[in-house]
Amino acid sequence: MMAQIIDGKALSLQKKQELKKTVDAMRQKGLTVCLAVILVGDDPASGVYVANKEKDCAELGIESRPYRLPADTKMEDLLTLVDQLNRDPSVNGILCQLPLPSGLNADRVIAAIDPRKDVDAFHPENVGHIMIGRYHFLPCTPAGVMKMLDHYGVEIRGKRCVVVGRSNIVGKPMAMLLLQRDGTVTVCHSKTKGLTEICREADILVCAIGRPRFITADMVKDGAVVIDVGMNRVNGHWCGDVDFEAVSGKASAITPVPGGVGPMTREVLMENTVMAAALQYDMGEPV
Ligand code: NAP
Repeated sequence: MMAQIIDGKALSLQKKQELKKTVDAMRQKGLTVCLAVILVGDDPASGVYVANKEKDCAELGIESRPYRLPADTKMEDLLTLVDQLNRDPSVNGILCQLPLPSGLNADRVIAAIDPRKDVDAFHPENVGHIMIGRYHFLPCTPAGVMKMLDHYGVEIRGKRCVVVGRSNIVGKPMAMLLLQRDGTVTVCHSKTKGLTEICREADILVCAIGRPRFITADMVKDGAVVIDVGMNRVNGHWCGDVDFEAVSGKASAITPVPGGVGPMTREVLMENTVMAAALQYDMGEPV
């Protein structure tokens, strides 16, 4: 049996249409939405990610304000810019594309962003809200995964969930969201012993490792739902952390790469930006 394909691209298009209506309605009331995007240095991958975010903004009628800074930018100048954007009432969301060039401290930049404008939800205050389970913003990738699971009717309550990867931006918050939805969650990482056996117990397996086709069919239980967060460039093509060909013969549902988690990550960033604007305009939560 072939797994159902979880189509993140189609779902993101649907969600963007709904979100555009919210942005249009806000504009009718004279309320604009603006995302400031800071890109330091000339990392080509970061350049592509930023260009995609600007494209998404344009599609939805959100203003994107780019700040492209040279790789040798000083920490204090970056912090001064963040401070200016924090104070600027016409800026609703602030995003600093990571990774930063060496010599710049990403943790300090993240901590300097006003938590109400922190659309990546990386600020320690927002991370704390997520731990407690009361939040406005969720980190884009794990939130996008939850939206896909919900849309495809994947029940989480009581299910064995295994998250491979424990980064602050994907693995850890992913585990927390599954836990909040009553999953029984195991988090694995590079020091995990018996990874294959643990993965094989998963009803829902989320892979955020960064190693092409690392998760093979023998690591997947029959009928599992497999979410592939990995984005690896191999011979000029994108490929995930999961051996899609083999695993899709065993899983009940699986996300493709590209066209799975990536588009939903982008969509949630737009939702967070609209949410930030609504909070600043004191409108409550529109999305
Ligand atoms: P990361 O910070 O490099 O974290 C990778 C995690 O995988 C770490 O926790 C690491 O364990 C674990 N790991 C590495 N090798 C392993 C192994 N052999 N066995 C078990 N665990 C292992 O990466 P990330 O930022 O979370 O991103 C993960 C992947 O998702 C990347 O391919 C990235 O490009 C992709 N990504 C995609 C999106 C999207 O929108 N689709 C968004 C973000 C990231 P340790 O902690 O022990 O080192």
